[in-house]
Amino acid sequence: MTVLGNQAVRDIETVLHPYTNLAAHRDTGPLMLERGKGVFVYDSRGKDYIEGMAGLWCLSLGHGHEELIEAATAQLRKLSFAHLFNGKSHDPAVELAEALKGMAPTPTSKVFFCNSGSEANDTQVKLVRYMNNALGRPAKKKIIARDKAYHGVTVASASLTGLAANHTDFDLPIPGILRTACPHYYRGAQDGESEDDFTSRLAAELEALILAEGPETVAAFIAEPVMGAGGVVVPPASYFPKIQAVCDTYDLYVISDEVICGFGRLGTPFGCQALGFRPDSISVAKALSSAYVPIAAVTVPETMYEATLEASRRIGVFGHGFTYTGHPVAAAVALKTLEIYAREKIVEQVAAKAPQFLAHLRRLADHPLVGNARGLGLVGGIELVADKATKRSFDPKLGVGARCVRFAEEEGLIVRALASDTISICPPMIITPAEIDELFARLDRALARTLESVR
Ligand code: PLP
Repeated sequence: MTVLGNQAVRDIETVLHPYTNLAAHRDTGPLMLERGKGVFVYDSRGKDYIEGMAGLWCLSLGHGHEELIEAATAQLRKLSFAHLFNGKSHDPAVELAEALKGMAPTPTSKVFFCNSGSEANDTQVKLVRYMNNALGRPAKKKIIARDKAYHGVTVASASLTGLAANHTDFDLPIPGILRTACPHYYRGAQDGESEDDFTSRLAAELEALILAEGPETVAAFIAEPVMGAGGVVVPPASYFPKIQAVCDTYDLYVISDEVICGFGRLGTPFGCQALGFRPDSISVAKALSSAYVPIAAVTVPETMYEATLEASRRIGVFGHGFTYTGHPVAAAVALKTLEIYAREKIVEQVAAKAPQFLAHLRRLADHPLVGNARGLGLVGGIELVADKATKRSFDPKLGVGARCVRFAEEEGLIVRALASDTISICPPMIITPAEIDELFARLDRALARTLESVR
């Protein structure tokens, strides 16, 4: 039996942990992290770990970046807080909105700020409703999201999320959310189906769903370019162009959830550019501030803005916004983050390092435990299976993915186990080639120990 230290006991007594098996946590206690530098983080005993998940897909510039610390401190000294309600404003919010408007992959009229990816996607749901009411088509409200999608955990965004753990016993999803297939070729393709046939089938299924519901009732389609938390699902190249064509035919508002893929993660400025689709709006968060402070944003196209303008004239106010919408400290840090991305050519850096990262993933595909290895840019996943030939998964009760994560931690690497024993890897974008090799060396050792443990 593990004897838990004082820190661990205090944690167990006080903190309700997100995304944690609360019963198991009472026995194992927390991993207490104390400090970080670059891609490394250190626990309270001084042991080092590579941040193989960039925190939660977010710490793009690594720990301790002095310019970001300076930007936050300077803004805290100058104007610690100001809100954007009732027409008030401040320079950091305006400058950040200008920067995002300038770089967005889709024509953008305005930018709405939030604090998290969940709030951004909740805002998308509300804006779609608001717009269609203003446009005089109150029946056009349903939103299509995909199986295994991850769009957050607030009531509306959790409803967009397509994972059982986010719905069960929370009485979700809310009405008006429709579900379509996930473009997971390894798991979803029928026997002998080519990638092209697979994506044609998914597009046909989407069209059939819209027709069955009535196109006049379906308002929007939301998708992550590469699905993150649902298992690092990289769609076949022909998927999004076919899906986009269906959305265009039925006048659906297309939302790209760029919370993970935005700002260079896939080797392009935004994920939709790597996957070949043209959204009407994007949701961004995480790497927007390199995770140093919470901030997120939604881009608003001109047609959407015109509709909200009209509605707010009629109602008297655009009745949406958070206390911390456009927080000056968060906006200042985000602005500095975008400046560093541009100066350091972070998108080009990711594109240049991706072949080495993806070659390691391809090599792991030969490992006896790895049924499928997939990735794009600097994000990847390996799906652990009991039988490679039949793709049979392990019994979830065995917790093989969680075991691999624990071995990785012992080897000095932080990764995550997603559903179906998929281990995700998403290092800070500033990781060096030598650190990429070291990350995979630690993962190799963790996989060897996992294999040993299931034999
Ligand atoms: N959308 C995507 C694609 C995400 O990966 C996440 C979080 O991981 C969210 C939305 C929700 O963001 P948050 O946890 O900041 O609410």
